[in-house]
Amino acid sequence: MTILVTGGAGYIGSHTCVALVEAGYDLVVVDSFANSRPEALGRVQQITGREFPVYPVDLLDERGLDAVFEAQPVEAVIHFAALKAVGESVADPLRYYRNNVGGSISLFQTMERHGVTRLVFSSSATVYGAAEQMPLTEESPLGPVNPYGRTKWMVEQILRDQCAARPDWSVALLRYFNPVGAHASGRIGEDPSGVPNNLLPYVTQVAVGRLEQLTIHGDDYPTPDGTCIRDYVHVMDIAEGHVNALQHVLMTTGIEAFNLGTGRGSSVLEVVAAFEAATGIDIPRRVGPRRNGDAPVSYAGVDKAKQQLGWQAKRDLTEMCADAWRWQRENPQGYGV
Ligand code: UDP
Repeated sequence: MTILVTGGAGYIGSHTCVALVEAGYDLVVVDSFANSRPEALGRVQQITGREFPVYPVDLLDERGLDAVFEAQPVEAVIHFAALKAVGESVADPLRYYRNNVGGSISLFQTMERHGVTRLVFSSSATVYGAAEQMPLTEESPLGPVNPYGRTKWMVEQILRDQCAARPDWSVALLRYFNPVGAHASGRIGEDPSGVPNNLLPYVTQVAVGRLEQLTIHGDDYPTPDGTCIRDYVHVMDIAEGHVNALQHVLMTTGIEAFNLGTGRGSSVLEVVAAFEAATGIDIPRRVGPRRNGDAPVSYAGVDKAKQQLGWQAKRDLTEMCADAWRWQRENPQGYGV
C-alpha cells in the first residue's frame, strides 16, 4: 500500500518514513525542501535499505501535486509539510497562513480530485489554550496563542468541516507534545536552521561546542524547581504513533484528535540533568528571564491514544537524550556536512 508523506524530509517526517517502511508500507515523499534537506531522505533510504520516489513539490503548486497523484497509487496521506517557527510566524503571519493553511487546502483538494480519503495530520499541542487542568486531554479547551498554533488549529477545523461534508473521509489529528531525540542509528535527527529555539537542540549544540551556554528561560515558575515542565517524547515513539494512526484511519471513517506524549512532565533542570547523566557532558548554563508565552506546565493525557490507537510511548528521557546526543555528535553541523 502506497502512502504519500508530505514534508517527509523534516524532523518528524523523516523518522516517520523509517517507521512506515519498517511497517511494510510503500512511500512517496513530497517536500519543497524550504526548510529541510534532500540528504535526510538519502539517509532514510540508507537506514531502511529501500528507495522511494521523492518529488520536490510545494503544496501550493496544485498542478505539481496532481502529477504526483496521477503517477503514484496513493491510498493515504500523512501531512507534515509546514513552517514551524513560532517567532517567525509572529513576524510574518501571512507567510504562515499561506503556507500552512493554503498548502493544506491545496493538498486536500488534490486528494478529493483523486478520490483519496484517508489522512493523518500533523497537529500540535500548541492548539490547546492556557489550561489550569493537567493533563491536557483531547477535550481540553483550544486556544492557540500565536499564528503558528493558529494555522494548526485552523487546519483541524477545516478537516472537521470536510469530514462533516464527506462521510467517507477518515482523518486523525495528531497533537504532538515535545518531540525530541533521534533515530538510534544517529543518521537522522533534528537539524534546526539558525540558533535553535527548542530546549534539546540547544542543549546538544552547547554539548558539541556550537553554542557557549544554555539560558534557562526563567526559574521562578510555580513548579517544584521553578523551571517549566513539558512532556518530552521520543521522536521514534511519535513516528510509530503515525503508523498506528494510519492503521486507524484505514479502518474507520470520521475525524478524531489524539495526543502523542508520554503523559509525564519533566522540568528544564530535569532535562539538563538527564542529558548530563546520559552523556557525561556538563552543560554550562545561566538563568535568564522568562520567555514570552511559555506556560508553566504542559503534559499530555494519553489514554485516548492508548485505547483507540493501541499506542503508547516506550522510550524514556535517558534514551531521548542519548539518541539526541549521538545524532549531534556524529553530525555536528546537522545535514550541512
Ligand atoms: N527553554 C529554555 N532555554 C532554551 C530553550 C527552551 O529554558 O534555550 C525552556 C522553555 O522555556 C520551555 C522548555 O525549555 O520551558 C521547552 O521549550 P521548547 O521551546 O523546547 O518547547 P515549548 O516551549 O514549545 O513547549
